[in-house]
Amino acid sequence: MEQYRVPDLNQLREIVISKMSLFSDNSGNRIFSDIELSNLSTIEISYLSKNSVSRHGLTTNLDKSKKISIKNCRVRLNRNLFQEQYLDYAEFVLFHEYIHCLGNFTHNREFRIIENLWPNKKEMNIIGKKLTRELQDSKSKWAWTCSKCGFIVRKSTRKFRSNYFHKECRGKLENIPIMLPTKPEH
Ligand SMILES: [Zn+2]
Ligand SMILES: [Zn+2]
Repeated sequence: MEQYRVPDLNQLREIVISKMSLFSDNSGNRIFSDIELSNLSTIEISYLSKNSVSRHGLTTNLDKSKKISIKNCRVRLNRNLFQEQYLDYAEFVLFHEYIHCLGNFTHNREFRIIENLWPNKKEMNIIGKKLTRELQDSKSKWAWTCSKCGFIVRKSTRKFRSNYFHKECRGKLENIPIMLPTKPEH
């Protein structure tokens, strides 16, 4: 059986750019020109910091005194996208970042029209939420809270499995995840 290979950043870039070269309007005209696509392929792509939870991709305007453009940006992607079950979504995230690189800094109506060119965009949003939840769960801290008096007995990085009781009141302890604040996607 052939083993599934996870692409690296360069391979992902090639996959996304070749998909973008096939998008056309109702009259059969290409949406993205060869020049745009070859310029997009020169943009530096690297990974986001390991702690990134709700951010799957980020495009930075390198010179804030100018409008964002292909020549004035860089892209970073969450390393957790590079897993077999998230590869389709990884392509979509890079496509989303490329729309920013083409000069659309905010998620306005024009941005969403271009984003909707991606074939299974609705499904991509669902997968994105799943990845965010997964990353939040793996980074969550837990508060061991007394179900009787509400006292927080301790904070921990692990979820306990057996039955614990609060010494003072004999109330049963519950595990409540301490949610991390989420940053908006970009
Ligand atoms: Zn108690
Ligand atoms: Zn965005």
